[in-house]
Amino acid sequence: MTQTHQQSSRTAASGLPEVDAVVVGAGFSGLYLLHKLRGLGLTVRVFEKGDGVGGTWFWNRYPGARVDVKSMDYSFSFDPDLEQDWEWTEKYPPQEELLRYVNHVADRFDLRRDIQLETRVTEAVFDEDVERWHVRTDRGDQLSAQYVIMATGCLSTSKVPEVPGLDLFRGRWFHTGHWPQEGVDFTGRRVGVIGTGSSGVQAIPRIAEQATELTVFQRTPNFVVPAHNHPIDPEHQRSVKASYAEHRQAARESGFGIAVPPATKGALEASEEERAAHYELAWYDPDNSLVTFLTGYTDMITSKEANDTAAQYVRDRIAEIVEDPQTAADLQPHDHAFGTKRPCLGTNYYETYNLPHVRLVNVRKTPIVEITHKGLRTTQEEFEFDDLVFATGFDAMTGALTAVDIRGRGDVRLADKWHAGPRTYLGIQVAGFPNLFLITGPGSPSVLSNMMVSIEQHVEWVADAIAHMRAEGKDTMEPTVEAEDAWTAHVDEVGHMTLYPTADSWYMGSNVPGKPRVFMPYIGGVGPYRQKCDEVAAEGYEGFVFSDADAKEPATVS
Ligand code: NAP
Repeated sequence: MTQTHQQSSRTAASGLPEVDAVVVGAGFSGLYLLHKLRGLGLTVRVFEKGDGVGGTWFWNRYPGARVDVKSMDYSFSFDPDLEQDWEWTEKYPPQEELLRYVNHVADRFDLRRDIQLETRVTEAVFDEDVERWHVRTDRGDQLSAQYVIMATGCLSTSKVPEVPGLDLFRGRWFHTGHWPQEGVDFTGRRVGVIGTGSSGVQAIPRIAEQATELTVFQRTPNFVVPAHNHPIDPEHQRSVKASYAEHRQAARESGFGIAVPPATKGALEASEEERAAHYELAWYDPDNSLVTFLTGYTDMITSKEANDTAAQYVRDRIAEIVEDPQTAADLQPHDHAFGTKRPCLGTNYYETYNLPHVRLVNVRKTPIVEITHKGLRTTQEEFEFDDLVFATGFDAMTGALTAVDIRGRGDVRLADKWHAGPRTYLGIQVAGFPNLFLITGPGSPSVLSNMMVSIEQHVEWVADAIAHMRAEGKDTMEPTVEAEDAWTAHVDEVGHMTLYPTADSWYMGSNVPGKPRVFMPYIGGVGPYRQKCDEVAAEGYEGFVFSDADAKEPATVS
């Protein structure tokens, strides 16, 4: 019996419409997956919760939203014509330009006809009898799919703080991660912003331009490096495009997915003058990047003492820029090492606190007690606002995955399997969940990298794995428990060789009450990780088990 015959008879038995693959999410990952899987001849249905494509860049429309990886790096590399044709306008493109780019990709590759918008996947249950996934949506769709691929993004489940009273607030409130499409005018309004991560840091200076009063509630000060955003020099754009293949390859082999020269010595081996010169460059150079501080020295993320040299440099700049000494002191991070919470790029961020109508409230000293009908109350003071803005982040990396009721072999829920933290093999698959693939899942470099590089690598690896299965007549693929255990231990071990686990960060799940404290991404570096994935594939998908299309041997995993 051929695989095709088998599939159609199984589908007939279940009575469900069948596709080869369901892809959840139509951001960069989902779009590229659709393109790639179509190329293999698969039938694909993409479900997207939003009423447009774009994922992160569809939802995050807050004022000042822009990517903080350079445009020439934060873009698809899979199609040489696309990367040559598209003209970027700025060093760091704003959300509007990125959304235009995503829409261009959707049109250019004729992707829309397989994307169903305004539809949330609610459930995916593996039917062991037919070895297919039964997928349901909030619009009543039901489908049978051989493969389910979660392209749901790492930062897509936004969270408001666990402070009581939001339902009482009579003003308007917004979350940066779900910003109204029509935009928000803050002119003449008293605004409170809670949160000073990347979103808050970008939004605060822009909101300050409109609001009559702006109060920022900060729990943890972050390290904010000047973005030096500027229009792209056309000559620079031409020269990168002239050797784009080499440029992309260098990014693929790098630590963070951004091509930078490798560090040659530790910060503590450098003289004070050398260090000062490097940090001056990292701070003032118009072509600096988010990783300039982190990649200058070999020991920045492994030695607290080395890291302190950069941290102190930034604290000194804050003291220089911010006029009010108490505000400057409150803005200086002391409780975590540089980079262990995602550092931010800012435009006039610290300068904004010198404006007379902007005030910083340190809620580490005076915590927020409740939101009231007029504003909010801290342990010390009551505030009145017309608008509240929550820049309070996301249930990162696992939130969007466990929000879907995913059940694998033995009806085991993914959320239950991960109760003590995510367990994956290579961040791509989970034992007991055959043919379920994660794009930039926990256990892969994902959020510690240029997402475009990691997305492309995962999409291509998954597509190759599926092509391999089809060529070999295999029905399912999943990791062994042993491979998953070993990889999860490795991710943890490498994470603990760095300073990352010392911070209360969303990388550690610390921002969500009750979430297990586990360092979720893989910090081994984009290049070595890619090499490992390629080796696994070359060794016949070492650590994975397959079931045959004909001989229905259940895989020996739990
Ligand atoms: P975030 O980094 O998690 O920041 C959330 C902020 O809200 C933190 O300052 C947090 O304080 C604060 N907060 C949360 N709950 C609070 C409470 N109950 N009371 C007071 N403060 C509270 O979220 P984000 O800024 O949205 O950024 C998330 C990630 O998205 C970034 O790290 C980055 O990877 C990505 N991002 C990228 C860009 C870009 O590329 N340009 C832009 C935006 C976001 P604590 O630190 O104390 O928890």
